[in-house]
Amino acid sequence: MRRLRRAHGVRGEDILFDLREFRLPDGRELLLYGHAPHEGEVRACLPPAPDSGGGHLRWHPLRREWVAYAGARQGRTFLPPAASCPLCPAAEGRLGEIPFGHFEVAVFENRFPALTGAALPVELGGIETAPARGRCEVVVFSDDHHAGLGTLGEDRLALLLEVWGVRAEALGETYPYVFPFENRGEEIGVTLHHPHGQIYAFPFVPAQARRAAQAQAEAPVIEGLLRDAGALVVEETEVAVALVPPFAIYPYEMWIAPRRRVAGPQALDDAERQAMAGLLGRAVRRLDGLFGSPMPYILTVQCAPRGFEATFHMTIDIRPLRRDAGKLKYLAGVEQGTGVFLADVLPEDAAARLRAVPAGEAP
Ligand SMILES: [Zn+2]
Repeated sequence: MRRLRRAHGVRGEDILFDLREFRLPDGRELLLYGHAPHEGEVRACLPPAPDSGGGHLRWHPLRREWVAYAGARQGRTFLPPAASCPLCPAAEGRLGEIPFGHFEVAVFENRFPALTGAALPVELGGIETAPARGRCEVVVFSDDHHAGLGTLGEDRLALLLEVWGVRAEALGETYPYVFPFENRGEEIGVTLHHPHGQIYAFPFVPAQARRAAQAQAEAPVIEGLLRDAGALVVEETEVAVALVPPFAIYPYEMWIAPRRRVAGPQALDDAERQAMAGLLGRAVRRLDGLFGSPMPYILTVQCAPRGFEATFHMTIDIRPLRRDAGKLKYLAGVEQGTGVFLADVLPEDAAARLRAVPAGEAP
């Protein structure tokens, strides 16, 4: 066990959190982050997954984007009953991914990765290909199966922001684009209910990320947005803002951003991280309160691609999938066929409704 220190953080040599590094029986890395040192004894865990040999990328010449193929992912765990949840802490009679009886935030390499460091080249006639090199990590937010970003409390969410930051920094040394995200809800295809997200480290900068980064390199789009947000603000503090972007593509879409331009969560200072954590928890509780049921959403942490660190302004984007009670927003013909989003809710109306939902306190 060692305590992690960040030499170049605003807190200098202060201890940020405790890190316990562990190797799973198949060699994958497991990292346990916490405010308290982790001292649990090792228990049994799931046996190694069959080696898939990694996937590959094929170039789509019309989209001008890579498509990733990873056939081995079809075998992954699908909606197991809570008693056999592989992300719950290890217990008598239950084999999971994490061989410990408790933890705060756990990060490990995905057993069914779409991208791996070991992916090999493939040859296909007439199509440009590349090995699907990269890394897919699972980030487990809590050892409580029934928790979520809306219930975990500000300190845990601040720790999660730290974890996103240190992983973005570490993976960014090898890969040019690191993408932390959370899919929540069966409606979006979540295969495990336990509160968790993922981090994908890509061997290339995806086209959409490159467009956003280039736009920001040409003009400080996010700073302008924060300055002029007005009626689009859902909630704000001195150092961070939760707002509905004026060009939201999803109903009730929310962005959480530090006022100061920083390239990713690794560059947030203490006050910004704590404020973002508070805004994040309250944003999820507002979304859950909007129609009186847990909101399915896609949460993405937008970090600077390599080469754009000096101009990129990080945001946490939440795209809710429900546009009304019992009604889902689908990406249908126009969105899929043209890339043009049709929105049913005006962003300024969405902001007013979200402000009116009590955000409450984390239980
Ligand atoms: Zn669980």
